[in-house]
Amino acid sequence: MAARANTALSRRRWLQWGCAHCAALGGAAAYAQGDWVAPPRHTRPDLAGDEGGLWALMDREETKLRRSSFLVRDPTLRNYLSSLACKLAGEHCPDVRVYPVRTPLFNASMAPNGMMQVWTGLLLRVENEAQLAAVLGHEIGHYLQRHSIERLRDAQARSAFATLLAPFGIVGLVGQLGALAGLLAYSREHEREADRIGIALMTKAGHDPREAAKVWANIRDELSAGPAGDPAKRSVMFATHPGIEERQVLLEQMAADKSGFVGESEYQAIVEPMLWDLCEDELKRAQYDESIVLLDRHCEKRPRRGDLRWFRGEARRLRAQGDDIERAVADFNAALTLDKPPAQAHRSLGFIQREQGRKEDAAASFSRYLEALPAAPDAGLVQSYLSELKT
Ligand SMILES: [Zn+2]
Repeated sequence: MAARANTALSRRRWLQWGCAHCAALGGAAAYAQGDWVAPPRHTRPDLAGDEGGLWALMDREETKLRRSSFLVRDPTLRNYLSSLACKLAGEHCPDVRVYPVRTPLFNASMAPNGMMQVWTGLLLRVENEAQLAAVLGHEIGHYLQRHSIERLRDAQARSAFATLLAPFGIVGLVGQLGALAGLLAYSREHEREADRIGIALMTKAGHDPREAAKVWANIRDELSAGPAGDPAKRSVMFATHPGIEERQVLLEQMAADKSGFVGESEYQAIVEPMLWDLCEDELKRAQYDESIVLLDRHCEKRPRRGDLRWFRGEARRLRAQGDDIERAVADFNAALTLDKPPAQAHRSLGFIQREQGRKEDAAASFSRYLEALPAAPDAGLVQSYLSELKT
């Protein structure tokens, strides 16, 4: 598949296209003032040409994605994402297709043929519709200016991009993606361009552009809690989008005197039914430093939610550093008194009590778990712990 595109790509030199295109972007600084005009709809390039070859490659990736078990098929979510993207894309709406993909990392990407991927890790991290609009608008900006085509024309980046497009396992190939980072990075100029367009599109659609910078501030908080080193190695979005600090400041400046629709309850209503699964996937990443920052934020926003409190407790129990276990126990006990108390909190308490040699307490906790969830997938396993404890 890649070989075919490679052959097609080698037929033309790309530098000239890039320069000609740059010249057309002269008025970039004025985007935030709302006088940016979107280009006309992209027509499907001739299949015999190099760009046509790339589109064909992306079409095949899209076919694979449609059949993938990682594609989230929930029609409510898909309609919500599609209509938001449509609103932002304006007359380009018929050319943009949004696919939510179950992968617990913060990422959205846009292929040159109009296929947009939104990973579920992003959905767990943005807080409202305006923040989501900021990310989608940014990606649509890359699409409108055909940045990825330019990037794909770099011989080295081509195969890496094809790899990135393929959905992967829940735990993710984060390390491998980090290694691809250098190959995939957009230029700073492309990033600025996409940010300006994103702000212009979300403002036009009525969303509050001041939310855009908050997305990056939150992600930075999360990544800075992780082990020291390059955050790009742990985040696809950072790896492919350099200069986050600078961009955050620029986004704040662009949006400073504006306001608009934030849509927190509207967004939360969409994500709510998926929240448990998203948090489960998040813990499977085993990046507990980052997950705890994220879950702190969720617990603060919804202090009455027992399930979120349990997830944060689990992250602490699994990390088990410093006073983590003590704080995990506090979260589990609180979780059981709040709304949506999860029976899993009994199991978690049981694990800790068992570890501490408190056999009776552990047996009582495991029993409570099994009483509440007799058909749990791990009921057999917990039953065997229980039998052990009672001997
Ligand atoms: Zn970008």
